[in-house]
Amino acid sequence: MSICSRIFAACSLVLLTSAGAFGASVFPGVVRTSAGEADFTIELTPEEYAAVKAEPRAILYVARNDRRLSSGKGGAGRGWQKCKYHMEGQTIKLRLPVKDEIQRTLIMYVPPVEKKRGVKGTTIFTAAFYPVDDDLFRRFPLKGDFHSHSSESDGKYDPETVGAHGRKAGLDFLALTDHYQLAPSVTLLKNFERFSLSSYLLLPGEEFHSKPTVLHSVAIGHSRGVNDWSNAHVEEFEQEVKAAGKIFEDQGLNKFELYATACAEVLYNKAREFGARLVIFSHPYNRPGHRFNAPPAHVDALLKRRNFDAIELGYGLQNRTVFTTLAKLRDEAREGRFYPVVGVSDAHDTSTRLGYSCTIAFAPTPDLDGIADAVKNDFSVVGRLAEKDGAIFLGNFRLVNFAYFLHEFYFPRHDEICRRQGETILKWLETREAEKLHDTKQELEKQQQELNEYQQKFWAH
Ligand SMILES: [Zn+2]
Ligand SMILES: [Zn+2]
Repeated sequence: MSICSRIFAACSLVLLTSAGAFGASVFPGVVRTSAGEADFTIELTPEEYAAVKAEPRAILYVARNDRRLSSGKGGAGRGWQKCKYHMEGQTIKLRLPVKDEIQRTLIMYVPPVEKKRGVKGTTIFTAAFYPVDDDLFRRFPLKGDFHSHSSESDGKYDPETVGAHGRKAGLDFLALTDHYQLAPSVTLLKNFERFSLSSYLLLPGEEFHSKPTVLHSVAIGHSRGVNDWSNAHVEEFEQEVKAAGKIFEDQGLNKFELYATACAEVLYNKAREFGARLVIFSHPYNRPGHRFNAPPAHVDALLKRRNFDAIELGYGLQNRTVFTTLAKLRDEAREGRFYPVVGVSDAHDTSTRLGYSCTIAFAPTPDLDGIADAVKNDFSVVGRLAEKDGAIFLGNFRLVNFAYFLHEFYFPRHDEICRRQGETILKWLETREAEKLHDTKQELEKQQQELNEYQQKFWAH
């Protein structure tokens, strides 16, 4: 073997492992329905390319289970339509109509030689793209978490390590929300400025409580601690709570429930006064029977009052909490009351618990205001990604469908690049050497470039 061919063999092995991890990809993955039709490139792995080349009988089909793609070969009643395409290098080029908002799956299929009952063909690859209407196309899908803890309260890791864990878990945004304190999240945000990682949004956050701790709620984006205020202004706080109690007087609450509910009213208003963009009612049905469980009458009163922006539906890995909340929201919906929902981890061990329970916000702008806008206007979904092949998305029908597509075809590469960025930061945090910061930033920038290019390719701008 010559040196050249040895190098070539080594190179193709690298290609094989890096591209092979994801399988065939269609670019762009997301297109505008208003475009009418679009040009696509399918990037193949070396194995897939070799298989297509070796099989002259291979046929490329596109799914049109809605029977609405276009006229053409395949027969009116068929769910699959043959596609014309040509090869360019290791890629497939084709043009297709994109008029309807629905996932289009492409399949490279080799029919069996013999047409016989029970004899099946083989599939070389499947890939997909998704035309969307302009309102959704213009939005940025941001995966994130509104609720996590550091060692500044009862979490396991210091704030900066929590920040790095968030990126490593594939998150575009993360709020550190330590109990009774806003400060750790603000410090984290400031300390991360040294990495110049603008695509990773660290949000100011706090989990605030009544005393005793019946109320659990999260505020995001405010500039002054809600519990800092209530602790420093006890008399004023108690007076306001007393006044707020009148709102809930006729609801049959006992003294204890009435106090916690009135606390919520005062603290929710305070959070907004201090600039919170989102006030979230946390885990209303956490650990039933536990002494920290919120009394059902208190939860009912808060739901009726609705002085929050969203309610935690996806909560960590606790299915019981999630699905009892979902059952309650179903009952509320039957009565005509709708509440935006978010998925959060409430991770205390952020090295293992982030990235499973999350929110995907379809934000009009890639910032906190955009994320808050998405949550309040039902442009977000709850994601529960604990099972590799059993992802659960909760939200409205249109977004849930789109989220499943993104989870399968967009987020794997996004998450992989974010994971490397998180590891780059964790590595620097081990020593925190000032002279190594420059190299760390360069590495992060290179990874960021890779992510930007991928996103540019995936969205047909
Ligand atoms: Zn809590
Ligand atoms: Zn918490």
